[in-house]
Amino acid sequence: MKLADRISLIKPSATMAITAKAKAMRAEGIDILGFGAGEPDFDTPDFVKDAAIEALRAGKTKYTDAPGMPELRDALCDYYKRTEGLEYERAETIFSIGGKHSLFNIFQAILSEGDEVIIPTPYWVSYPDQVLLCGGKPVFLETSEKNSFLFKASDLEKLVTENTKAIVVNSPSNPSGMVYDDETLKAVCDIAIKHKIYVVWDEIYKDVYYGDGKLRSLPYYNPDVKPYTIICSGLSKNFSMTGWRIGWVLGPKDVVKAMSMVQGQSTSNPVTFAQYGALAALKEGPTHIGEWLKQFRARRDKLLSAFEDIPGLSCVTPMGAFYVFPNVSGWFGKKWSGGEIKDSYDVTKFLLEVAQVAVVPGDPFGAPGHVRISYALSMSDIEKGIARIKSAVGELS
Ligand code: PMP
Ligand code: GLU
Repeated sequence: MKLADRISLIKPSATMAITAKAKAMRAEGIDILGFGAGEPDFDTPDFVKDAAIEALRAGKTKYTDAPGMPELRDALCDYYKRTEGLEYERAETIFSIGGKHSLFNIFQAILSEGDEVIIPTPYWVSYPDQVLLCGGKPVFLETSEKNSFLFKASDLEKLVTENTKAIVVNSPSNPSGMVYDDETLKAVCDIAIKHKIYVVWDEIYKDVYYGDGKLRSLPYYNPDVKPYTIICSGLSKNFSMTGWRIGWVLGPKDVVKAMSMVQGQSTSNPVTFAQYGALAALKEGPTHIGEWLKQFRARRDKLLSAFEDIPGLSCVTPMGAFYVFPNVSGWFGKKWSGGEIKDSYDVTKFLLEVAQVAVVPGDPFGAPGHVRISYALSMSDIEKGIARIKSAVGELS
C-alpha cells in the first residue's frame, strides 16, 4: 500500500538517528563515545523528581486540560514576568510534549499550503521537515562561517515575499551555538512588524549562555513585536529533562487556541506527573545553571583548543548551547581504509569506525562542510575522544 505523499517529503531525524546508533553499538559492547546526543549529561534536579514522585503518589495520574494544568500555565506567566518582565495571561500559554511537539503544533496552527517559513542556516534538523509536514515551504536564509553563521537583517528582508508566514530564530543556535547580536534582533523585530510575519522564537538554549549577563526573549528588543512573536522553549536543556517531554509556547491567543485544538485532537495533555515536576522547576527556576555552565564552558574550551592541533579543522567559538560545529571540509578528498572522504556523512562514518566517536553530520543541518560535536559528556570522555580523533586523523592520507 502506498503511504501518504507527505511522508516522501521528510527524512529521519539525523540527531535521533546517530544517538540511537551510538546506543545500539554500545549495547553490542563497542566502546563508543557519544558526541552526538543533544541532551545534557547532568541529572534532573532532585526537587523536580520529588515533585513528580509526590504527584504520582497523590494519584495525579489522570488527564489534565489539553494545554496543561491551569496552575502550571499560570506559573509560566509568573516565570516570564519574573525573568523577562513580560506580561502573558493563561490563554496565551500552552504546554506540549517537549519543545519539538510545541514547534510542530505551531506550524500546524499557522501554516496553510504553500506558506513560506524562512529558516536561517545552519538550522536544527527538525525545522524544515516539520514545516514540510504541515504543508509549508522552507526558505533557507544562508549564512556563512565567516560571519559566525549570523544572518544580516538586509538578507532576511530580501527573502520576504507575500507568502512568508514566519521566520524561525533559534538563539543560542543548535548546531552552531551562535547568539544573535542586539542590532540584528532589533532589525528582526522591525521586519516582523513591517511585513506582519510571525517570529518563531526558539529559546530552548537561552539559559546555556557563556557571555556576560543573560539572554533575553525577543520582545525585550521591541515590545511591539509581541503580537508577532511565538516563544517556544521548555525544560529539556536547562533542567536536563529531555525524557520528561515538557515544552511550552507563549504567543498570540488565536495561535495558542488553535494549537490547543490540534493538541486536543491528537495527543491531549502532556504527562500529568511530568507537569507537576515542571511546576516545581518553574517556581524555583534554574538555580543550578551556574555550576552546569562552568562545566560546559571548560569542555567547550578543551575541544576548541584541541581543534587547533588537528590538521584540517577550524571552528568558530560558540557562545551558547553545548555544541561545537567545526568545519571539516579540510578532510574532504583524504583517504582512509574505508575509502575517500567526500562529505560530512563520510566524516561521521570515518570517526565512528576509526575513532569510535559518534558525531552528527552537518548536511542535515544545512551546513555540508561541518559536523556537530555535542559536549554533553564528562571531561574525561571528552579527553579520550580528542585523543581518539587525533590518532584517527593520523591515518588519513
Ligand atoms: N529546539 C531546538 C533548537 C533543539 O535543539 C531541540 C532539541 N531538543 C528542541 C527545540 C526540542 O527539544 P525537546 O523536544 O527535547 O524539548
Ligand atoms: N535537539 C537535540 C539534538 O539536536 C535532541 C535530539 C532531537 O530532538 O533532535 O540533538
